[in-house]
Amino acid sequence: MPVATRPATDALRGELARLEQADLYRRRRVCSWDAALAPAELRVDGRRMLAFCSNDYLGLARDRRLGEAMARAASRWGAGSGAAHLVTGHTTEHHSLEEELAAFTGFERALLFSTGYMANLGLLGALAGRGDLVAEDRLNHASLIDAARLSGARARRYAHADPAAAARRLGEAAARKFIVTDGVFSMDGDAAPLAELARVAAESGAGLLVDDAHGLGVAGADGRGSLAAAGLPVTAVTAMVGTLGKAFGTFGAFVAGSEEVVETLVQRARSYIYTTAPPPAVAAATRAALRLAREEPWRRTHVLSLARRFRAGARGLGLRLTPSASPIQPLLAGEAQAALAAADALFEAGIWVTPIRPPTVPAGSARLRITFSAAHREADVDRLLDALAGVTALRGPTGS
Ligand code: PMP
Repeated sequence: MPVATRPATDALRGELARLEQADLYRRRRVCSWDAALAPAELRVDGRRMLAFCSNDYLGLARDRRLGEAMARAASRWGAGSGAAHLVTGHTTEHHSLEEELAAFTGFERALLFSTGYMANLGLLGALAGRGDLVAEDRLNHASLIDAARLSGARARRYAHADPAAAARRLGEAAARKFIVTDGVFSMDGDAAPLAELARVAAESGAGLLVDDAHGLGVAGADGRGSLAAAGLPVTAVTAMVGTLGKAFGTFGAFVAGSEEVVETLVQRARSYIYTTAPPPAVAAATRAALRLAREEPWRRTHVLSLARRFRAGARGLGLRLTPSASPIQPLLAGEAQAALAAADALFEAGIWVTPIRPPTVPAGSARLRITFSAAHREADVDRLLDALAGVTALRGPTGS
């Protein structure tokens, strides 16, 4: 059938076809959930699937109590905030949540952002600029990489989790210098060497910014995050980013830091100033999540013990794990095709795991990003291991 020609569109058809040929085409699956399913299950094309790829580490996203807190707040406040925080959008729900997040993390202040992506853009954009230097881990999350680029500072990547390499990157002259790192790496699940990075930062007169999207709520005593896990006081870092759509099961993000850092963000962070505040009902649900995370510590211990159970089983099967003690337990497949084939084989067995391919991860390191949730049971992990035992794509030349 002839396709109409539109400016700047025909070239896209060729680019999309090339992605498809290279096994790099991304497709969404449309899923649904209903009360007949367990919290870690989803329905896809009418099929019941057990999912191991959400970031709902504490199993709070579908907790009835969060939904009720959100519904109560929505019936009081309505659906939307109506404006940016600096206009009429900053409600008592937002403000109380900020105070509770500051208390939870131990920082002086916390400032809400609509998403983690925006928090990183806002933070780096406000603190760094032309004439400054940002040293970033090679495997940092895309939002940090983009944030450094957009800030206008000179961005220099250092070898993954290598403090000596970070120190070398900071050797260049610059007005202000920063080390920027994930706390727990999103696609590998390993922890950044924060104590050593803090030492390098102090010795180089650099600030240290930690994105703890995957550590907060799970790592460290009481789930206070990667800084607590590394035994660092909050004063060792300039700021920490936390996200609310992962362990806390809702949506949004925050930057925690000193009074000065947070006030600088209020004055300067463009992704804070020029955007609508999240709905107050989302803030109310997050307050409920924070309470539950504190009151139900079994969620952390359970999800971490599931990850250990999985590692023991996967080792027994000869599968390639990453050095991760977190709920993120990727299995390395090698080429994109192998990761796709492994994910397809699991899908046939009623198990949903997303394959992660370049450019999200470096070429040759495509993987299944398996994640655990407190909503999983031990029997779910065993079912996953049974299914993996039959997946030949993970046992090829690069997967054995
Ligand atoms: N930082 C890291 C390390 C992440 O993994 C993510 C999300 N995957 C983000 C930031 C972005 O957070 P959000 O989804 O809230 O935009």
